[in-house]
Order: sequence, then C-alpha cells, then structure tokens
Amino acid sequence: MRFDLKGYFSLSDDASKFKDDIKEFVTNINEKVLKKDDAEKSACIDDFRVEKNKFYIHITSGRYYRAHNALLQIKNMLSKKLGKKHHVGVRDIKIEDYKIEFELEKKALDPISIPFAKVETKAKQAVIILQDVSEEFLRKNYIDRMITLVQEKVQNQYYEGKGEFWKLIWESKEKKPVWSKDPTEEMNKLEWLKQGPTKGKWFYRPQITAIFRAMEEIAINEVLKPLGFKEIIESHMVPFDIWLKTGHMEGMPGEFYYIAEPASRDVEKWQKFIDLTKITKEIPLDELMKNLSIPSAGICYAQCPVIYWSFKGKTISEKSLPVLIYDKTANSARYESGGRHGIERVDEFHRIEPIYIGTREQLLDLREKLLERYKHVFNNLLDLDWRMAWVTPWYMQQAGKTDEKESKDCGTIDFEAYMPYRGSRKKSEWLEFQNLSILGDKYIKAFNIKAQKSNLWSGCSGIGLERWTIVFLAQKGIDPKNWPKGFRKYLNELPDGIEFM
Ligand code: ATP
Ligand code: ZN
Ligand code: MG
Repeated sequence: MRFDLKGYFSLSDDASKFKDDIKEFVTNINEKVLKKDDAEKSACIDDFRVEKNKFYIHITSGRYYRAHNALLQIKNMLSKKLGKKHHVGVRDIKIEDYKIEFELEKKALDPISIPFAKVETKAKQAVIILQDVSEEFLRKNYIDRMITLVQEKVQNQYYEGKGEFWKLIWESKEKKPVWSKDPTEEMNKLEWLKQGPTKGKWFYRPQITAIFRAMEEIAINEVLKPLGFKEIIESHMVPFDIWLKTGHMEGMPGEFYYIAEPASRDVEKWQKFIDLTKITKEIPLDELMKNLSIPSAGICYAQCPVIYWSFKGKTISEKSLPVLIYDKTANSARYESGGRHGIERVDEFHRIEPIYIGTREQLLDLREKLLERYKHVFNNLLDLDWRMAWVTPWYMQQAGKTDEKESKDCGTIDFEAYMPYRGSRKKSEWLEFQNLSILGDKYIKAFNIKAQKSNLWSGCSGIGLERWTIVFLAQKGIDPKNWPKGFRKYLNELPDGIEFM
C-alpha cells in the first residue's frame, strides 16, 4: 500500500526568510518521527519548498502511518515550531493531489467509481486519485472509508449474479396440498379482501382478518410466551440516524417509505394551499412541497432497529439477561415495486418481531428452543410442507471477524414453504415466510449496549403474518373444513362476510 500526497500549508506570514529552520525541521521530523524500521509503518517527506506564505510538501507513506495522518501531525508540530520562534501561524492545509495505491484481493472485473475521487484499477492493483482535498475531509476519516468502499465494490463484482447463498438445513415430509389455486385471487373473488387504496396495500375484510389474528395468537401462545418473551410497543416512524447506525440507510434506501414533516403547522403558511384546494378540488402539489420539510425519517422496515435504539448506551443487569421482547404493532413498509404479488409480497405488511439480547451461550440455546417451537407450529398445528435453509454466506458473517468458529454461530435461517399454485414441488420457487437470525455483536456495538459482566450478542426473528397466512392457505385452501385440527383449535369457523349486491 502506498500513499503519495502533495499539498501545502498556508502560513500567516512569509516564511521564506527562515528556510534553514524549516529545512532542519523537515530533517528532524523525517528522522525522528516518520521513519520506522518497517517501511509499511513509515512515512517520509520526500520533498518540500517554501514560497512566501505557502509551505509545499510531498509526503509518501506505507499502510499503517498514512500520509494524510502524517500531514495532520506535521501541521501540529509546525505550528509549535513556527509559532514559538517566528510568530507565524499555520492557517490551513490544502491537498492538491493525493494518490493512494493498494492491493485488491482479486482483480476488478469492471471499472469502479466512487464519489470524491477517480479510481483506476489494473490487475490486482487499485489507485484512488483525489484532488483539492480539505483538512476537514482528512479529519473525518473519509479516506479510509473510500478505500474500504473500493474493496467492497470489487468483492461485489464477484458475487453479483451468483444468486443468493442457500444451504438446506432441514425439510418436512412432502404433504399433499388440497388445491393449487392462488389464494389471493380466490379471496379477491369472494370479497375477503380488496386491493389498494395504493400500490401494494390491502384492505382486509373480516374473514382474512380472523385468519391473521389466529396466526398471531399461535405465534404468541405457542412460540413467544412459552419461551418467556414479553411484548413492547414501539414507534413505527424511524429517524434516519437509527438506520445510519444499523446500516439500513446504505443498504436499502430504495425500499423505504419516507416521512416528511410539515415545515410548519401555522395555518397562515398553509392558507394558499387550502384556498387552492377549495377552488380547484385538486391537490396543489407545488404548493404542498413548499410546506413540507425534507424527510428525516421513514416508516418501519423491520422492527428491530428502534428496539436496539431503546437500549442505546444502557448497561443491562445480568439478572435481565437474556432480554426477550417482541413488537407486534408496528406495521412494516417496503417499496417492493415490480416484485409485488398478492398478499405475499406487499408494500405494507404485519409482522411480529421477537428480538433477543444475551450472551453467546444464551442465544445459541434460545435458537434451538425457538426452532423447536417453530417446528411444533409448522408441523403439528399448520401441518405445512416446509424447509429451513442457512442463507448467510461465510463472507457476510460478522464482517471482519477472523475467528471462524465464532462467525459460524452467526447468520440467518430462512423458513420456506411450497406454494402449489406456482407449479411443481421440485421446480417452483418456494416462499420465505419467516426468518431467524443471530447477529453477534453488530448492533450491540452500533448502539453501545453493555451488560454488567457478559459480552452481549443479539438477534431477531421476523414472523410475517401475511406470509404465514398465504403459505397456509396455498397448501390447505380457504375452506375451514380442510384445515388441520391444530389450526382449527384457534379458528374453527370463519366470521360471516359482508354481502355485496
Ligand atoms: P424476501 O426475500 O421475500 O424479500 P426479505 O429477505 O426481504 O424477504 P426480511 O427482511 O428477512 O425479508 O424480513 C423478514 C420477514 O418479513 C420475511 O420472512 C417475511 O415474513 C416478511 N416480509 C418481508 N418482506 C415482505 C413483503 N414485501 N410482504 C410481506 N411480508 C414480507
Ligand atoms: Zn430484525
Ligand atoms: Mg425483500
């Protein structure tokens, strides 16, 4: 790795008068501060010149003591040196040209581009070229993140198009479905539900609502309560700073529903909007935009981020471990765009999300218990044709963790079910109806959550009510007569619907 930086310090006065002092300063720094036994740990002022009140400098360095960090340190030392003896201050730093060369794990397959810099790649070598860089830019650690971003983009070129990682863990016996119709279409015909009022949303009438509620009761009574989970209620409006911490903001910005607050609730500010609406009976969108703030939050994507936020900076007593809680009130919103289908891929859905915080041992033990309870529900109550798969590839597990054993504990299990209406059991795509993750200390660190003594891990499981329901109906049909006994204990008959003429 090689850093090659050319820039200058702006001084408060002409320093060309004391060139000799500066020369001595540079020699001294080179010998005593920048030079180390190992070239990768060293930096060096290769070149310098003083022109009036500009001190031009050329620094090169290896991997560990990076040229821009050396530059910041030199600035401090130079301030002291020139200030004390000559009463000259160092005003600011300007980097005219900064070249960073580093090795890639594999060669880039396509050109790479990132903000703020030009990137060139050749074989397994990458070069980032920056121009006109400010001191603030250096201090904010952007450069390190830009290097990481280039590495990540090259890595991604190898995984793109490879499909998702998927490894079967367990599968149920094959079960004979009672029909092979698309339940949403059938329920639509029967007026059990109605699409809309906007894209990917549904209005659920009494029959389907009763099924959702039965599923919810099953999840709570058969899985969560027996394991000691307690209910909490959270906000379903998530401010950006929470998503910045969890990584959602960089992960899926195109899937959020954004929330804009009014710029003011002052009626006078809204008067023109109100008058225009009264006269035109249309919504004056330009006028509306003037009265809205830029979004600073979004609708819940998954419930866990706000739950983690609620523990931010807290030290949890050993007595309270493992923390076992769940939310069932926050609706999730995702902009699914072209992927929408029926009630199984919607833009607004209803989930129960249990989350767990505890020691590694507690969570591994909990995972076994959760799996056992889930199996009980899907085998004995819903009688599903389903399977479990490990879907976290090793390179995603606990990024940066070198301990392989530790990283093997972390990851996600998807629960998938056969959807007869999609075609053959072997060839058709099965539907993920829930998942279960252990995420190590990723969010624990992000929100600075501590225990008295133990090291904490966390995880969550997303129980999608639309998905549980559609999977069940796709295999068992919509006539309660054909439903398994276990489920009928929770819902034996459907409420009367509303008749339309
Ligand atoms: P998919 O691969 O189907 O898009 P996902 O990986 O995006 O799912 P997660 O973020 O893991 O889903 O969410 C966990 C659970 O939330 C899913 O198992 C499912 O039950 C539910 N879920 C996610 N997206 C939707 C959706 N668009 N409509 C209904 N339920 C959903
Ligand atoms: Zn979660
Ligand atoms: Mg998705």
